[in-house]
Amino acid sequence: MSSIAENIARLKKDLPPEVTLVAVSKTKPVSDLMQAYAGGQRVFGENKVQEMVSKQQEMPKDIQWHMIGHLQRNKVKYMAGFVDLVHGVDSLRLLQEIDKQAAKHQRVIDCLLQIRIAQEETKFGLPGHELDTLLESSAFKELQNVRVVGLMGMASFTSNMTQVRKEFEHLQQLYKRLNTIHNWHVLSMGMSGDYPLALECGSNMIRVGSAIFGARNYH
Ligand SMILES: *Cc1c(COP(=O)(O)O)cnc(C)c1O
Repeated sequence: MSSIAENIARLKKDLPPEVTLVAVSKTKPVSDLMQAYAGGQRVFGENKVQEMVSKQQEMPKDIQWHMIGHLQRNKVKYMAGFVDLVHGVDSLRLLQEIDKQAAKHQRVIDCLLQIRIAQEETKFGLPGHELDTLLESSAFKELQNVRVVGLMGMASFTSNMTQVRKEFEHLQQLYKRLNTIHNWHVLSMGMSGDYPLALECGSNMIRVGSAIFGARNYH
């Protein structure tokens, strides 16, 4: 077994069955993704539309592709025909564009609303207090070709696990308050460095990159 497939097997062994593992393959070559595929992995996460599109064209068609990155509206059209879940939706305008492009493909695209939970200024996401306004707006209720199925968040990039726990618990509370009302089923939080803590805080979808594929080299 390749080391990538071994990493996946090791991770999955400890995961409760209801938790989805998204293998975050950004920057990695198709040959690496194919090793994960050979190990049984079918859910892959990418953060750039072009990269996801070209990998999708090269790889087997039973893969579920998740867009996990910050998404520009003008890129939505390139992936609307196949994307399985969009994690990083943080505005009504973006939802409206996804809705429009999904309609062209006669699809309903599942989305997660990304909530800004980190203290850091750099992280994208909708402020938690704007969530109810969005969900209750008539413009949101009119959308036919997108379905919000849950929430996504990224904790601060810090080794202070007390801080990270606080941020995850905040997202968990929002999720708990709203998931029964809205019929949600996905709480996407946790990455290589913090997924055990995210699972303790109720996550049922973790996005793991470097712990599967090794460190990324951006140069
Ligand atoms: C890159 C990325 C991940 C994975 O990060 P690792 O630390 O490599 O596990 C998860 N979520 C998002 C949104 C990312 O951009």
